[in-house]
Amino acid sequence: MASDLTRIALLGATGSIGRQALEIVDAHADLEIVALTSGSQPLDELAARHRVRHVQVGGDPTEILDRSEPDLVLNAVVGFAGVGATLWALERGVTLALANKESLVAAGDLALAAWRRGGGLLLPVDSEHSAVFQCLEGRAPEAIDSLVLTASGGPFRNHSLAALESVSVEEALAHPTWSMGPKVTIDSATLANKGLELIEAHYLFELPYEMIDVVVHPTSVVHGLVRFRDGAALAHVGYPDMRVPISYALTYPERRATSVPALDLTAPLSLEFEPPDSERFPLLPLARQAGERGGTYPCAFNAANEVAVAAFLDGRIGFLEIAPLVEDALEHADGGAVNDLFELVEADLDARRLAEGRLAPAA
Ligand code: MG
Repeated sequence: MASDLTRIALLGATGSIGRQALEIVDAHADLEIVALTSGSQPLDELAARHRVRHVQVGGDPTEILDRSEPDLVLNAVVGFAGVGATLWALERGVTLALANKESLVAAGDLALAAWRRGGGLLLPVDSEHSAVFQCLEGRAPEAIDSLVLTASGGPFRNHSLAALESVSVEEALAHPTWSMGPKVTIDSATLANKGLELIEAHYLFELPYEMIDVVVHPTSVVHGLVRFRDGAALAHVGYPDMRVPISYALTYPERRATSVPALDLTAPLSLEFEPPDSERFPLLPLARQAGERGGTYPCAFNAANEVAVAAFLDGRIGFLEIAPLVEDALEHADGGAVNDLFELVEADLDARRLAEGRLAPAA
């Protein structure tokens, strides 16, 4: 259908989500990129190819949002650095396609308040949340029994605790089903990603934690389910390919064509599910606790996890040292309510400083 031009600010353009988003934008004449940002990668080539005037490498992405006045912000920044852009879009009622789950985790209460004031659309790009969002569309809240987020279980699903001791960065980066950036891939290996997604779902769908379950589903074909009070459950099913949720968010509510093939039901398809193991993957229950406690606990969880993942990627700590760093930060967090972005940034910095203080000095 012919619709008006959608002017998109793509934040985090050089990452995995950013590259796939550009592929989708290229396929539709009425989608236009008006701003590009990256954390540190040069953007000259991308800006020239997509004729983008507003470009920013590093710094606060809200400056370029002010200048470029987009209709839609695709926030694919990695980590807490995405918080400002999330709040910017929600506050103004500008459509937010959210891939930066950390911003909703760390700034959940502030984000919800800004979303209510702004009154715009918040479209999840995280595959599980896009799936649940689609299963929930048009349903009355009182009909919902519970949500189920699926987790692939990552590359170490069958590793013993002893084997996890010595896994390498390369092994952790070899995700069995999804192709993603390094931060989220390590988070998938520890199940911290599913913990962040649990908190993300709590804010996004405004449901209590006891109504959100996590299940391990190794083939990643079912991306999310909603159980309803009548005993029915709706599932979102398809090949694990991020272009589907990205396209859904960028072309909502039209659900335009992508190059992802339709699900082939003549080929073998495995739909197995198992409960997550809290002993080998303690970051998932830690995230649930942090979420239930609320206040700055989710922010502290996220901050310490970002520090720990960076340290693991740098070879400074082993895989099994990630969770204790996060647990420690949660024990020391004050957990109080957050009134504004300034207080949130303080809470984030406190947790980072604490986690960094516990790390052995770099070799
Ligand atoms: Mg996800």
